[in-house]
Amino acid sequence: MWEEIKQKIEIAFNFSLNKNQWRDIKRLIYEIAKRENLDYDTIIEELKDNHHINKAGGRNKFFVIKQQLINKRFPLTTKREKIDTKKVFLSDIKPPLPNLYQAKEFNPTHIFVEKDASDSYLLKRFQEKFAEVKIEELSFASEYIKKHKFSLEDLKKPIVFIVKERWDFIKPCPCTKNHLSCNYWILNLGFGCPFDCSYCFLQQYTNFPGIILPSNLNDFYDMFKDLLKKINSPIRIGTGEFCDSLALDEITNYSSQLINFLRDKPVLFELKTKSTKIDNLLKNEPSPNIIVSWSINPQEIIDKEELMTSSLEDRLTSAKIVQEKGYSLSFHFDPIIYSENWEKIYKETIETLFKKLTPPFRWISLGTLRGSRELKNIVEQRFPHSKIFYGELFLGEDKKLRYPKFLRKEIYQKMISWIRRYDTRTPVYLCMEDEEIWQVMDKKLTSSKDIESYIINNYDK
Ligand code: SF4
Repeated sequence: MWEEIKQKIEIAFNFSLNKNQWRDIKRLIYEIAKRENLDYDTIIEELKDNHHINKAGGRNKFFVIKQQLINKRFPLTTKREKIDTKKVFLSDIKPPLPNLYQAKEFNPTHIFVEKDASDSYLLKRFQEKFAEVKIEELSFASEYIKKHKFSLEDLKKPIVFIVKERWDFIKPCPCTKNHLSCNYWILNLGFGCPFDCSYCFLQQYTNFPGIILPSNLNDFYDMFKDLLKKINSPIRIGTGEFCDSLALDEITNYSSQLINFLRDKPVLFELKTKSTKIDNLLKNEPSPNIIVSWSINPQEIIDKEELMTSSLEDRLTSAKIVQEKGYSLSFHFDPIIYSENWEKIYKETIETLFKKLTPPFRWISLGTLRGSRELKNIVEQRFPHSKIFYGELFLGEDKKLRYPKFLRKEIYQKMISWIRRYDTRTPVYLCMEDEEIWQVMDKKLTSSKDIESYIINNYDK
């Protein structure tokens, strides 16, 4: 089919496209068709109406065609500014995976356990819950990869690795190049997640199927005490970076153990989730330094892009129960995804949040959709129906695809003004943004460092 389309363009404009030129044109036509539900012939007919193409000589025809397609592909940005074509990411089209596997109800089919974790409480918990599942012992989880070549099709397969974490329990948030860093610390409670969000950055970092879970929290306690001696000041720390903090908590019981270890430490500890797994939180006494947070999005985005996660209503109901128990809450609007009706659906979501829950919260963070080039290619293969990466995304200074600055500023300004209608006290901050974008912030807290110290210094008030 694509060969036929190429010929139609070459005949219509009487020139030949080389390999790279055709890759760019094909990608642009493909994305315009996806975004606007158009067929390819309609897009070619529109090109034929542009008399500048035939007037241009030789290879200039390609540049005129490309420019017209870029204008059509990025209509909002075209109206606002000149598009730097170097920032438009045009790659070969990736077909959907033939044996595509997306997450289903969590029910492991295999459990692999490292020798050093074979008498752990975690293995016993899995044996109690999934008595029928075959358990296989390995010296190290990496042995699995030596025997089974990893393919993207295996990514979310229900396989569990119970390991002894040796090195990476705690580290500073890597943030992103050329953007303001946040001074947040990450407690690594495994890698992988039973949910399946189309935009999840973990998809590009994993060479393992399934979920890796550490069984040796005692070693984390020792490392953490050493770290506190070195940094000598309070920190903010969370577990939701490489997994969902609570999705498997009814099995791992991590939250109970960590709440009780950290309640008297000089940290703000955040459990971040898209689930309703709050039973362990309700069994434990809250503490001012333990914060439970929910990532939220409008329900129509949850339905399309956040597979197997809890509904918005269920997330907020769980948050209410947890708040009534006495825990502090925070919320993350991240990623905020632009669409024609984004204002309506995000405004409604903010209204729903504040109708259901009583502010102030410990913090609200905002972050617009972003992702690497690799992630876009993966999403195309794993989520063929998702259109989020066909939005107006350009390569930023950190080489991530992001909305243009004017659009990010507008989104943040509007989100903040809608939040402030209900709540003037909760600190709101931006995730992975640069100094220029931070200027949209209200109040005097205009950098991630300001926010960080405000949050830490106000946690017990
Ligand atoms: S809940 Fe978080 S970690 Fe899990 S798939 Fe979604 S984005 Fe990834």
